[in-house]
Amino acid sequence: MKDLKIVNANIPCFETKSFKQADILVDHGTIVKIGSVSEDTANTIDAGGKIVSPGFIDIHAHEDPVHAGQYKFFNANRELLMGVTTKVAGNCGINYDNLPDFCENIEKGGSPTNYMMFMGQNYLRERVGASDRYRPATKAQMEHMKQIIREEGRQWSPAGLSCGFEYAPGATEEETIELLSAFANEDCLMSVHYREDSENGVKSIEEVLRISRASGCRVQFSHIGSCSALGYMKESLLVIDKAIEEGIDIMADCYPYAAFCTGIGTAVFDEGCFEKWGKTYEDILVTAGTYKNQRCTKEIFEKVRRETPDINVVAFVMNEEEVIEAYRKPYVMAGSDSIFVNGGGHPRGAGTFPRILGRYVRQQGALTLMEALEKMTILPAKRMGLASKGEIKEGLDADLVIFDENTIIDKADFENPAEPPDGIDFVLINGQIAVKGQKIVNGRLGTYIKSKKEGKK
Ligand SMILES: [Zn+2]
Repeated sequence: MKDLKIVNANIPCFETKSFKQADILVDHGTIVKIGSVSEDTANTIDAGGKIVSPGFIDIHAHEDPVHAGQYKFFNANRELLMGVTTKVAGNCGINYDNLPDFCENIEKGGSPTNYMMFMGQNYLRERVGASDRYRPATKAQMEHMKQIIREEGRQWSPAGLSCGFEYAPGATEEETIELLSAFANEDCLMSVHYREDSENGVKSIEEVLRISRASGCRVQFSHIGSCSALGYMKESLLVIDKAIEEGIDIMADCYPYAAFCTGIGTAVFDEGCFEKWGKTYEDILVTAGTYKNQRCTKEIFEKVRRETPDINVVAFVMNEEEVIEAYRKPYVMAGSDSIFVNGGGHPRGAGTFPRILGRYVRQQGALTLMEALEKMTILPAKRMGLASKGEIKEGLDADLVIFDENTIIDKADFENPAEPPDGIDFVLINGQIAVKGQKIVNGRLGTYIKSKKEGKK
């Protein structure tokens, strides 16, 4: 007897751009038949005509840090509840742990979602002692970083290098090109959180294009909304369009919010920031301390920044029209940039995918359902070389999400950022039920996926 059938499914077909009603037969983690399934199976799910989509692939994610030798997977559990079955972590230059420890742990004990990983440039720099983020790495430190990339990379095949230039101004173009040369995969991907946002965003994009030309690496621009939806999206997209025409392989990801979240004491809020954004103190929300959940005045802003610079604030400084403008580009995918610290964080970590489907597709009609699903499934699968994921076809992995297109919506907000969404009935990973009725029933079905892009270097 085969494992599972899903009857009355409404399945997206990305080739014909249409939905078709069918049953799906699943066995040993694989989709074995699509059509009319009458045979008995160990389990049956009646999708009741709802959408059965390939599991969402979060191309811009962050892994969970280790707590006392254990991964608690708070971030990954929130992702699973919003339909993510594979997440690409290690973005923005950040890793929390070395690649072998992280991967071995998942191989042993499983994880809420499947994982792919980037190696983070800033993490590598700290690991080899280049801890002054304003200075370039020394020759010896460079050799050490390249050695780590070769040794750990050979074993675990990461997707490439992630850069977080804004957090490590000392990481130069030259350093990055040299590090990229140590990766074995010929079409290595570099995921880039660029050096400066707003008015300097275009300069930052041009720097990344130079690195790509010199290294031959493909580019993934990170959370393009938070870097350019501050009045500069049009010109940023224009520069990217031109570079694509020139032949550079570029894509980007974006989270569907008009606000970012960071420490009030950071350089982000240095003098001149409000003029640059065309915003005021009222656009800043304090998330903790005496003024928790209050909008700033000049006095509150200055007091909190001076006295408690570590407090996170939400900056409603991005323009949602510009976020949507980015999503209209076929090369911009969905990516959550999910980060929670002690349960606190930005609602994007629990709401990104349902929010795009509920708010941008159903409520605003800014994207079609087919376009949105492509940005969450087939496009990131192709980008990451995941030939067995991103589509519902016979022979492919049974990573699936069953949701109601009429009700799906994010519930996480800036006061309750970890709140799971509405409208998702089931999430299946590798053919087994991970989420049922908005509850996690098995949070250890995920595996580590090595990047298959083997090259000649
Ligand atoms: Zn980032």
